[in-house]
Amino acid sequence: MPLKVLFVSSEVFPLIKTGGLADVSGSLPSALKSLGVDIRILIPGYSAVLNQLNDLQYIASIHNLPVIGDAELLLGTIAGSLIKVIVIKSASLYERDGGPYSDVKGNEWQDNPIRFGILSKVAALLSGSETPIKDWQPKIVHCNDWQTGLTPAYMKLVENTKAKSIISIHNMAFQGCYSPDFVSTLGLPEAGFTIEGFEYHGQLSFLKAGIFYAAAITTVSPRYAKEIQTAAFGFGLEGLLAKRGDEIKGILNGIETDEWNPETDPYLIKNYSASKIAGKKQVKSALQQQCGLNIDADAPLLGVVSRLTHQKGLDMLLPNMQRLLDAGCQFVLLGGGEAALEIAFQAIATQNPGRASVTIGYNEPLSHQIMAGCDMFVMPSRFEPCGLNQLYGLAYGTPPIVNATGGLADSVIDTNPASIKNKTANGFVMVEASADGLLACITRALDVFRNDAKTWQKIQKNGMSQNLSWDKSALEYLALYQTLMQTI
Ligand code: ADP
Repeated sequence: MPLKVLFVSSEVFPLIKTGGLADVSGSLPSALKSLGVDIRILIPGYSAVLNQLNDLQYIASIHNLPVIGDAELLLGTIAGSLIKVIVIKSASLYERDGGPYSDVKGNEWQDNPIRFGILSKVAALLSGSETPIKDWQPKIVHCNDWQTGLTPAYMKLVENTKAKSIISIHNMAFQGCYSPDFVSTLGLPEAGFTIEGFEYHGQLSFLKAGIFYAAAITTVSPRYAKEIQTAAFGFGLEGLLAKRGDEIKGILNGIETDEWNPETDPYLIKNYSASKIAGKKQVKSALQQQCGLNIDADAPLLGVVSRLTHQKGLDMLLPNMQRLLDAGCQFVLLGGGEAALEIAFQAIATQNPGRASVTIGYNEPLSHQIMAGCDMFVMPSRFEPCGLNQLYGLAYGTPPIVNATGGLADSVIDTNPASIKNKTANGFVMVEASADGLLACITRALDVFRNDAKTWQKIQKNGMSQNLSWDKSALEYLALYQTLMQTI
């Protein structure tokens, strides 16, 4: 019998997305399904989810949930996918204007601990003896990030299930810490509110609950698995993580090659590939035109698509911007986040018409066009659990310029004589995480781009010919599931 796995996530592309978690949740389950896993996704019934799923039908009711009492479970499919999606329908919790975590103005929903506490609770219920879905019961519950962190706690302490839980950490910076009042509100046992449980400095920590109670822990890159066991990257949970260090497995994310492929990408004016890379020039000039930049094939075009937060390190780019533009570079940015960064980048665009373009907001087509049309992709993150954009850059022949951390370090091989010789060079890695370090790294990239077209093409082709799909990583998840099954 195929192994039944419930994949629990607060965002899934293309239904709802704020970042890389959605990309992973939209593509890893399909890769696992093609390996024979009977996998279903569990997601809150946000309006965007209800509106986009096909063949949505009622399958069960749940009663006696904390705070809300009743909810319905619906089953649907994502257009173009065979994956079944279980949806928690609760209008009062999930059907609102705005994003999954905040309202249209960006203010976090005050009842997030309830909204994601219920998501966690329902996931645990589905794996237990009281499940409302009798004909499909998972043996593995695969949780993702703090929003699902209470699931392993509910499974172990409340539902007493035989199924095994995994928590995948996509970002330690977000932990879901709330008032201790929510312990009783959410029906968690007070006994778990200790340092050996889900208490974190007097608060209820969703992520700590996941890390403490899950049968297995994964991170989205091997390097990040090690980094989070240190004070610099553990966000206060490094002690617990180090204790469970031997059980933390780092599995590098893959990319959805149907979505992110320059040969087939419908958002590009011209498709191209490693063997027909000339088409990329047309995409570049279309991007320059669309963004109001001077049409100039020779000007090195630097791109950024990113949340604008401290994590992403783009403040290290700011002091270098004018110098780079004055040296003949062009710049295009798509992103949104902290007001100070938005304002600073917008000012650069205003002061440099024809040379810099800044779009604040979320725009899926433009993100593909930037990835394809730019010459290099800048991603100087201070920490990066995996990062998907540098992988998209590799696939699109847009060498990434990155800081040496997390998944960036695991996927980008710096260009130097040795890596050129052994055909692994695929980008540029900063030696020092500072504005000067970033400038030095960009300068090295510009030197190759301007003065050594042959090597530049080699770097592009090395990245484009890599297998960046989920093939290998999905097998690693499957192996982990199978190991856990042996302990049931
Ligand atoms: P994170 O999850 O930390 O934001 P990742 O690199 O793992 O970073 O994933 C970011 C994902 O979100 C990528 O698919 C990227 O293209 C997308 N993205 C980020 N900002 C925007 C934006 N403003 N418009 C469109 N897509 C965006």
